[in-house]
Amino acid sequence: MSRAIGYAAQGADTPMTAFHFERRDLRPDDVAIDILYCGVCHSDLHQVRNDWKNTLYPSLPGHEIVGRVTAVGSDVGRFKPGQMVAVGCLVDSCMKCEPCCGGQEQYCSHFPTMTYNSKDRRDGQPTLGGYSDHIVVRDHFVLSLPDGLDPKRAAPLLCAGITTWAPLRRRKVGPGSRVAIAGLGGLGHMGVKLAAGLGADVTVLTTSPSKEADALALGAHRVLITKDKAAMKQATASFDLVLDTIPVAHDVKPYLHLLKVHGVHAIVGAIDVLPPVNSMLLVAWQRSLEGSMIGGIAETQELLDFCAEKNILPETETIDMQDINEAFERMLKSDVKYRFVIDMASLKREFPDDKSRISA
Ligand code: NAP
Ligand code: ZN
Ligand code: ZN
Repeated sequence: MSRAIGYAAQGADTPMTAFHFERRDLRPDDVAIDILYCGVCHSDLHQVRNDWKNTLYPSLPGHEIVGRVTAVGSDVGRFKPGQMVAVGCLVDSCMKCEPCCGGQEQYCSHFPTMTYNSKDRRDGQPTLGGYSDHIVVRDHFVLSLPDGLDPKRAAPLLCAGITTWAPLRRRKVGPGSRVAIAGLGGLGHMGVKLAAGLGADVTVLTTSPSKEADALALGAHRVLITKDKAAMKQATASFDLVLDTIPVAHDVKPYLHLLKVHGVHAIVGAIDVLPPVNSMLLVAWQRSLEGSMIGGIAETQELLDFCAEKNILPETETIDMQDINEAFERMLKSDVKYRFVIDMASLKREFPDDKSRISA
């Protein structure tokens, strides 16, 4: 075992504080990673505050991880100590079922093992995430960080990036596609950059008029303020795809009206009970309402390579680990442009004697 440190919450109403724990010894197919940066996803906040009523405490979140390999197990051929790598929301799956064999490990029929708030499928121990100094991950679930990607800014690609990339790719978004992104936060701003990078015409649907200039600078072609009923009406039947990143329960009907014939409303944000929808809105124009969860490992690597090639990086605000409680509060007020990323050197400075000890 190796001693590890991180920041965890002990309950839904308690702040994140320093937490000492142990990472497992390396299995033959494991990679040990010294964490350099970790993004702060709204899901981290949902989990820590028990919004989904399934949180295992202590809750140590973080699934947008960038780091450097420190050791590998005896069967690992793809990675070497010193290599820059990344880990997203998945750390294991059955690797045998149809979704796993089809590169969609996130939909594993036997449930994937998530980076935090899961139980390890071999030893049953709770998984603890990236708000920590190091992590041990099965090699299949480790991504290579391409040389062209700035490690300080790349971390949000591992969740915000792949969660928006997967539905864009599934719907074959490209030149000629008309895409709307609802909610300009961590996910939304990546949705804008990626859809624009794929050549689509991009509209931002926002509750925040103050974000208009940013949206255009990120690559959107226009902005629609969702409270402006006249503007929403004028946009009826405009889009092939609405990518909905709104983190709370909300009425999707105003967005369904914006879809063209065969249009798709993809929910990646709220996991909650939504107000009812008259199915006529779907039936009449063969519109679809779909959900989407992160993405598979191969498509995450595809995304990293695409971003390196196109020089697409998240907009980030780097914070210290010790600032996490304030960062959560700011995230709740949509006061982040557009993703917090924790510089893990701050954690190592707080505990200078707590060097990670990885046994191979
Ligand atoms: P975020 O950075 O907080 O951004 C959410 C954005 O939604 C806000 O910036 C705001 O944009 C808009 N918004 C917030 N409250 C709203 C409200 N009450 N009504 C309408 N719009 C509102 O969050 P995030 O990290 O992007 O995550 C968004 C959601 O996706 C979270 O619920 C998270 O758990 C979920 N998520 C899902 C997956 C998946 O696999 N499906 C993966 C990652 C995250 P405007 O100011 O532009 O309106
Ligand atoms: Zn996330
Ligand atoms: Zn599986």
